[in-house]
Amino acid sequence: MTLLEKEKKVVTITYGCQMSERDAETLTEITRQEGYTSSDDLEDADLVIVNTCCVRESAENKILGKIGDLKKLKEKKPDLKIAISGCMVQQPGALERLQKRAPHVDIWAGTHNLHEFSDLLHRSETGKRVAEIWQEPHQTLESAPLAEKGKLQANVNIMYGCDNFCSYCIVPYVRGRERSRQPQDIIKEIKDLVAAGCKEVTLLGQNVNSYGKDFAPSYDFADLLQEVDQIPELLRIRFITSHPKDLSDKLIETIARGKKLCEHFHLPLQSGSNSILRCMNRHYTREYYLSRVAKIRELLPQATLTTDIIVGFPGESEQDFAETLKMISSVHYSQAFTFMYSKRSGTVAADMPGQIPLDLKKRRLQRLMSVQNEESYQLRQGMIGKCYEILVEGPSKTNPNRLTGRTRGNILVVFDGPPEVTGSLITLRIVEAGSWTLVGEMVP
Ligand code: SAH
Ligand code: SF4
Repeated sequence: MTLLEKEKKVVTITYGCQMSERDAETLTEITRQEGYTSSDDLEDADLVIVNTCCVRESAENKILGKIGDLKKLKEKKPDLKIAISGCMVQQPGALERLQKRAPHVDIWAGTHNLHEFSDLLHRSETGKRVAEIWQEPHQTLESAPLAEKGKLQANVNIMYGCDNFCSYCIVPYVRGRERSRQPQDIIKEIKDLVAAGCKEVTLLGQNVNSYGKDFAPSYDFADLLQEVDQIPELLRIRFITSHPKDLSDKLIETIARGKKLCEHFHLPLQSGSNSILRCMNRHYTREYYLSRVAKIRELLPQATLTTDIIVGFPGESEQDFAETLKMISSVHYSQAFTFMYSKRSGTVAADMPGQIPLDLKKRRLQRLMSVQNEESYQLRQGMIGKCYEILVEGPSKTNPNRLTGRTRGNILVVFDGPPEVTGSLITLRIVEAGSWTLVGEMVP
């Protein structure tokens, strides 16, 4: 770069799940290879990438608002390039609608061609608007940049796509069919991350329990976990998401035997009613779900469970909803991510009769959240006086004078301690607890 050339800055804004965050990392790395440095300052940006989510209408509305705001920025800075990528763009028929609404956008990219982003950047250099959405994915994206190195914690894709077609969900339509990465590629990526200082990995898949279904000879998620558990200097291994229908005894046994495999299961329930579960195409009953929870509790009494729940699915009666509340009280989740059903065009549930009015969905969501808040409070109160292994993550975001870290069960704790313990495993005794907060003190 000559002195006259200004350093180019990219701001990447991302919405949605960890996979979307992981994709945003890939895009940022591609732009770095193109000479851009990352920045948080929109006023200073030469390129803004908005990596999108379309799982619920509320996410889409927020993103459309952000894209609208960028129009004003572009009017002030005509040389600014704006790129919109990810799930929202990949939705069948969405591109044309989005392009009409946001003619100020320079680059549109779907989920399947992210690794070709540098090509799109080059093509837009002449001021041309560029849009490219592949209908089919590459097998897996081994040619794309891997997880960002140098961080304490990293997300590692082990598979892409989803084959489950839950009737409410847009994900299979925008992420394609399930494709597992080869174990040796995953292990190599993790070893490289560890060599660069990573201590904790989270293995990502829409349903990690069906990892390897596409392999012959057979090799499954439990086999992968066993191998990752052997990687020296890696301290912790997490994984999301576990579809309850595919949660095998072998997997629970593997975690019970593992050294670094954290005893936390994110096991989305979605609904506690068997008839709603059937309409959701979830392929399990509440009884089966409870049997999986019982197996986890039998082999891993210290395990924590978290979940996702949708209220107001079409046809959900008061009785169905009461069944969901009952499940919350039986399972004792440490946290629940709760959502109002959102109609996603093109999914089976969008055309189901019995769509629930918004005000009823809101009331159910409030009731659900208050039951879960009480559960979370009780669970954290029960931790007072006990000791937990914590991986220290660094200064707390809400109180930078304190440090923060997580238990093996993924529960956040804040404490006073020397910054040098960041990145190491320490023991904390819990001394205070609220619904969402835990305060600990270091045990010598
Ligand atoms: N593959 C993961 C997560 C998928 S999306 C899984 O199966 O658990 C994350 C969560 O968003 C889902 O678990 C579900 O609770 C919620 N979700 C998906 N589609 C939704 C919709 N149309 N309306 C409301 N919530 C939805
Ligand atoms: Fe969506 Fe169901 Fe696939 Fe999860 S398992 S991504 S909820 S279709």
